[in-house]
Amino acid sequence: MALHISILGAPGGDNALFVSVNRGQRIHRLLLDCGEVGLTALPLADVRGLDHLLLSHLHMDHIGGFDSLFRQTFSRGVDAPVHVWGPPETARIIHHRLCGFMWNLTEQLRGTWVVHDVGPERVVTTRYEAAEGFAVAHPAGETPRAGAIIATDDYTVAALDLDHGTPCLGYLLREPPRRNVDPARLAALGLAPGPWLGAVRTPRPGEPSTVEIEGKARSLAELRAALITEAPGASLAYLTDFRLDAGELARLAEALGGVDTLVCEAQYRTANADLATRACHLTTAQAGALAATCGAGELVLIHISERYGRAELPAILAEARAVFPRARLPEAWTADQP
Ligand SMILES: [Zn+2]
Ligand SMILES: [Zn+2]
Repeated sequence: MALHISILGAPGGDNALFVSVNRGQRIHRLLLDCGEVGLTALPLADVRGLDHLLLSHLHMDHIGGFDSLFRQTFSRGVDAPVHVWGPPETARIIHHRLCGFMWNLTEQLRGTWVVHDVGPERVVTTRYEAAEGFAVAHPAGETPRAGAIIATDDYTVAALDLDHGTPCLGYLLREPPRRNVDPARLAALGLAPGPWLGAVRTPRPGEPSTVEIEGKARSLAELRAALITEAPGASLAYLTDFRLDAGELARLAEALGGVDTLVCEAQYRTANADLATRACHLTTAQAGALAATCGAGELVLIHISERYGRAELPAILAEARAVFPRARLPEAWTADQP
């Protein structure tokens, strides 16, 4: 699988999700939220090479670790901007963070930060330059929000609107379908494998309509129809800090439809459902219900309230598993347990 995930932070503390996507051409690095999670636990290359910071919202427990990230990445070249995504007002709040230091001799610095406020209808982008000490908010475009907010050949990211009493975003990451050559069909055609299979497997803009095999031109379209099988790509969703009623459950389950891995908050135990409702958070059982209703492959519970000790983790997991058996805790939380 080309998606690799690491849950950062401890139970009862801030959590974040680091994702790398590697389909062979290059590694894409994404960080979802940036609380006090100990970014130093990540290899420096992963922090310095970050492509996108995707913020659910700007509460302190989701942005409190920003300075560690910023220190490693603020000036890494104009050709490698860091993109930050979040709900409306993300640019305003991030700009305060960028300006929260004394900057001088800035003409030597080379770094660009591009912040995208993802509203219900539009995405508004603002650019900040290290060479200006990040002082100027440059308007950098406004686009209708339609479909994925990030689209590359290797993955897409869509944002889901959540209600946390303040706007909050969930994120759904999908790989494109995997295209493979079926060896049995290849043998049935009597063709020997060769470099030409690459042209059949991967369409390119402006490609010729034929490929040469053993001195003979063959139609690419016919070869693809005969040889290629498609399998769905991997998918991953990150949802934290939101309320869930029957309407929201149905809406979000449809949007998540069959996601492989759902990383989801479970801030409160079922017995504290009243607290969950008041704080616009989920209970363990609600996280399980969302995973079950959307047909997730697995559910990973994060963002457990600090009111519960580590000793309660098995009971917390059991509450989610009673609703959705394929629930689990992050591996790092359970590595020292039987
Ligand atoms: Zn919050
Ligand atoms: Zn939170």
